[in-house]
Amino acid sequence: MRFPNKKGYFGRFGGRFVPETLISLLDDLEKSYYSLRKDKVFQGELDFYLKEYAGRPTRLYFASKLSRALRTLRVFLKREDLLHTGAHKINNTLGQILVAARMKKTRVIAETGAGQHGVATATAAALLGLKCDIYMGSEDIERQSLNVYRMKLLGARVIPVSSGSKTLKDAMNEAIRDWVTNVKDTFYLIGSVAGPHPYPEMVRDFQSIIGKEAGAQFKNKIGKLPDYLVACVGGGSNAMGLFHAFYNDKSVKMIGIEAAGCGINTSKHAATLGKGRIGVLHGSRENVLQDKYGQIINAHSIAAGLDYPGVGPEHCFYKETKRAEYFSVTDKEAVEGLKFLSQSEGIIPALETAHAIAYLPKLAKKVKGQKSVIVCLSGRGDKDVNSLKGLL
Ligand SMILES: *Cc1c(COP(=O)(O)O)cnc(C)c1O
Repeated sequence: MRFPNKKGYFGRFGGRFVPETLISLLDDLEKSYYSLRKDKVFQGELDFYLKEYAGRPTRLYFASKLSRALRTLRVFLKREDLLHTGAHKINNTLGQILVAARMKKTRVIAETGAGQHGVATATAAALLGLKCDIYMGSEDIERQSLNVYRMKLLGARVIPVSSGSKTLKDAMNEAIRDWVTNVKDTFYLIGSVAGPHPYPEMVRDFQSIIGKEAGAQFKNKIGKLPDYLVACVGGGSNAMGLFHAFYNDKSVKMIGIEAAGCGINTSKHAATLGKGRIGVLHGSRENVLQDKYGQIINAHSIAAGLDYPGVGPEHCFYKETKRAEYFSVTDKEAVEGLKFLSQSEGIIPALETAHAIAYLPKLAKKVKGQKSVIVCLSGRGDKDVNSLKGLL
């Protein structure tokens, strides 16, 4: 089976819920991307930058101390944290910037919440010499000053958005407005497996190198398929990047971990698959955190990168068809997870990634016998040290 279908649907999720004026732009992008996907020269260029610039392939590391502590699990870490800029996001921004360049665009725009996607976009834009404007809520600009400074150093312009709640969803609206106005020279670079078709598919393709590599590396080491895949889910790109290559390997169980924030029965969490309802966000039909009038609710997580009120349509589809399972862990559990990996293996994970780690002791209790698990170590934790002060 191939997903999405021709109209960009994964089951009943996905599609294109955008103003009429954007449809022809998305058609253009789809056409360009589908032809570049088969273009050997383009793929060669992308491979070159992934390898020589970003640092692929990343290692699949057997975490023996962590595994000993967990007893029933043999844990393998897919080290996306070792990539340039410290997380998996660069896989996608390099891919899209090359598409933008091939489409003869001279400027990229993006929105960012915590600033991580903004930094990854500004990095790729600097590399290829494209102009870069990043929309960011003024509230977020204040909270994430270090990333704002990084983007500026990389030559990007950071445009503050002070409408609405002054956060990610408002920045998203402004970025789309900009795109409609400046279509001719501008490429809109989306940061996760979200947005209108073809973005969820394109971003998934760019990130699926994670699972392709991990599968081959695991086979090399162990000689078979892993039993479990575990990854954290914000918009869902690192998780889908790991999961997708294993879709047809039915024995491989996939588990996505959302942010339960202060608890999923409070109003402060980001468990979109656990607690959201079907709605439209960012041009796509998916699970969304919304109030009874359908207004988007701001998400909360200690991990800025999981703080997103929607989730990619392919995950909604995997959940509905039971191909993957989704659970959530709280802010507090995530901090414990971060300490657990730091002190058992000497690897400080990002707070986002720490959600996946925090789930491992729960999984260890559930399984029968010994099982193997690949965890997507989506990013490194240096960026989070400040927000951890006082919590350790
Ligand atoms: C942005 C980010 C995430 C969340 O985004 P996904 O699209 O769900 O992968 C997870 N981990 C890290 C380190 C991030 O920077």
